[in-house]
Amino acid sequence: MSDHIRNAGPMLASPRCGAKTRTSGACRSPAVHGRKRCRMHGGSPGSGAPKANRNARKHGLFTRDAMAERKQIQALLGEARKLLEGMK
Ligand SMILES: [Zn+2]
Repeated sequence: MSDHIRNAGPMLASPRCGAKTRTSGACRSPAVHGRKRCRMHGGSPGSGAPKANRNARKHGLFTRDAMAERKQIQALLGEARKLLEGMK
C-alpha cells in the first residue's frame, strides 16, 4: 500500500455549479472562478450577455436623445404649419 497522503480537501471544498441536469439533480462540477456555474453550464470566459444590456441596442432609434430630437422636429413642423395657416 502507498503512503501517499491525498490532499483533495481544498478541491472538494470549492463552490459547485448546481445547474439542473437532464438526469435530474444538480451539476456537481466545480464552478469557474468568479462565476456561479461550471465551464459546461455557462461559466466559461466570454459567455453570457455584456454588462448594461448592450445587446438590447440595435439602432438607437429609441434612445432618449433620438426621441427628444424627433419631438423637437415635430414641434417645429407644427409651428410652421400654424404659421402657414395664418398666412392664408
Ligand atoms: Zn455545471
